[in-house]
Amino acid sequence: MEKENYRVLLFYKYVQIEDPETFAAEHLKFCKETGLKGRILVGEEGINGTCSGTIAQTDAYMEHMKNDPRFEDLWFKIDESEGHAFKKMHVRPRKEIVNLSLEDDVNPLETTGTYLSPDEFLAQMQEEDTVVIDARNDYEYDIGHFRGAIRPDIENFRDLPEWVRENKEQLEGKKVLAYCTGGIRCEKFTGWLKREGYEDVGQLHGGIVTYGKDPVAKGQLWDGQCYVFDERIAVPVNQVEHVIVGRDHFDGTPCERYVNCANPECNAKILCSEENEHMYMRSCSDECRTHPRNRYFAEHNLTKEEFNERLTAIEARRAETHVS
Ligand SMILES: [Zn+2]
Repeated sequence: MEKENYRVLLFYKYVQIEDPETFAAEHLKFCKETGLKGRILVGEEGINGTCSGTIAQTDAYMEHMKNDPRFEDLWFKIDESEGHAFKKMHVRPRKEIVNLSLEDDVNPLETTGTYLSPDEFLAQMQEEDTVVIDARNDYEYDIGHFRGAIRPDIENFRDLPEWVRENKEQLEGKKVLAYCTGGIRCEKFTGWLKREGYEDVGQLHGGIVTYGKDPVAKGQLWDGQCYVFDERIAVPVNQVEHVIVGRDHFDGTPCERYVNCANPECNAKILCSEENEHMYMRSCSDECRTHPRNRYFAEHNLTKEEFNERLTAIEARRAETHVS
């Protein structure tokens, strides 16, 4: 039997949804009946989701949404996939569909940056007095980003406004272009930038995933891959060249492979080769490696002796190379 083709859908819309709780419960029921898997957030301000399914299942979902007047113009970004990209189906009501946690929230339907198509973004990012800021988290930037883009040193989107205020000299007096995975974070972030007094603010319409498929932009000036929040972890963007920008956490060599730190209380995303994953017991630091809850130990049935041997090997490697 021929293997079935799957797709991953990515979508959002800022639109008023009354009673998100009821909407979420009914939506979850529909998604489960359809056979989809994924994660969808629903709030009074709109919907933000990603889900996977067969062609028939994803077609049924898109059809269902387009029959609702609130979502008739919902823009679906569609990727091919070899199977489901999620294990479960969640639809959750939320106060915000992206968490910026502003005291005074921004409504992107009222204030947002200029929408730039992929080819406009490609042209403008190369203009003088223009800065490109990555509106994503540090681990997303580290596996791939626009060449020369500013990397805010943040682990959570909600920390971005504070980061900008503390680093405003990098943006002031310039045209500011922002981008994120599918566009939803930039809608609010560029709106916030305008409210902060930045006048010339643009956003990549449809996000990186759209940029990578655009027949004109062809993903150019993107280095590395695009981090995604599903089991694929990262997807290609640049159709013209592939420059690896990710660096192995342990030895600094080019790397595009993410694992999670084996200390569940840390769970940091670590770029590393398979060899280094085992050498360093999938732990980002000495503290995590020797943490009582570290999972690597149990997952690999290591004896206390084997564990100590690895620690000794790490010490030896360190003495040799002076890296952590
Ligand atoms: Zn760790």
